[in-house]
Amino acid sequence: MSLRGSSDAEKRNIETMLNLIFFGPPGVGKGTQAARVAKFYNLIHVSTGEILREEIRLQTDLGMKVKDVMARGELVSDDLLIELLENTCAKHKGARGFVFDGFPRTLRQAEALDEMMKRQNCKVAKVIALDVPEEELLRRLVNRAIEQGRTDDTVEVIKNRLIIYQNYTKPLIDFYKKQGIFVGVPGVGTIEDVFSSLCTVIDNRY
Ligand code: AMP
Repeated sequence: MSLRGSSDAEKRNIETMLNLIFFGPPGVGKGTQAARVAKFYNLIHVSTGEILREEIRLQTDLGMKVKDVMARGELVSDDLLIELLENTCAKHKGARGFVFDGFPRTLRQAEALDEMMKRQNCKVAKVIALDVPEEELLRRLVNRAIEQGRTDDTVEVIKNRLIIYQNYTKPLIDFYKKQGIFVGVPGVGTIEDVFSSLCTVIDNRY
């Protein structure tokens, strides 16, 4: 059993797990679509922003540490995020796969995720970017701030988050293009339309 058994199990991981990254600037609709895709394909939705907001709500040590940085719309440190992601994935050992939403946001995070995937004998199948014109993004972000009362979304903070996306996160497009797993999907239209385009990309991933 031992050797052959474990190599079969490893092979299973890489063949059957489905790991996706939802990529794009804030306001692009990643959260909504990532949640739907995760439900539809029976995957674990990992939204680092949601996890951090919950830590703040519960006033944990981590929450207290990240509160001010998040309120300014800046990035929480790579070390904290990488640890958070590893702990979150470790809680779902038998999962069919993950939909990462809001992670990675820096090159260091992307490299750490690659290493983690290798250690688990898994891989990221696709990095899916939702494309939305910038004016539409700003409109959506301002509306969301009003509707959901998101305290991290004042106009100043929204602009800051978009600049940080341009400077730190956007360069990851090249990183994933080099791996041949980057794909863009139009993020305008109804939630249904976008979901259906996403399913087409995911179903044709091989
Ligand atoms: P989000 O809901 O994904 O827009 O994230 C909200 C905020 O959480 C961001 O503006 C950051 O302050 C923080 N955050 C979430 N994910 C990350 C990440 N991968 N790296 C650094 N900071 C993050």
